[in-house]
Amino acid sequence: MAIRKIREIGDPILNKVSKEVTEITPRTKFLIDDMIETMYEADGVGLAAPQVGVLKRIVVIDTTGEDLLVLINPEIVETSGEQEGYEGCLSVPGKSGLVKRPNHVKVKAFNEHMEPIEVEGEELLARALCHELEHLDGHLYVERVEGDLVDNSELRAVDEEEN
Ligand code: ZN
Repeated sequence: MAIRKIREIGDPILNKVSKEVTEITPRTKFLIDDMIETMYEADGVGLAAPQVGVLKRIVVIDTTGEDLLVLINPEIVETSGEQEGYEGCLSVPGKSGLVKRPNHVKVKAFNEHMEPIEVEGEELLARALCHELEHLDGHLYVERVEGDLVDNSELRAVDEEEN
């Protein structure tokens, strides 16, 4: 496995639409393993293949540190409710912004063995599913931010004042 370079906002690959995966080749397996390692190394809760420069519809998500999801050709099939919170992205380092998302999301996808799966999530997982899936269509959360992006250091300062 290897850590891959995370592409950052301004890199045109982040605005391209990724292609469906039709089969899991050894190369796809290496990509998935590298994405997992790269996400953990960067302390992220999710990573989409275009963020490491590969236009394939693959995302990895782990919102707790022990619930790894590998989603291939994922599609949102149901959403409900609403949540608003600060969101960040490994491709927009050091920044966060306020984004509204559904509070509950259901996704159908394939796992790394190309078996069909369904994933349901609330709160942070729902947010991560929406965020990562948008990467596959060339969108970044910054397009949805209400107000300005803030530096993560400012966000931490606010947290400390409130606590
Ligand atoms: Zn992102």
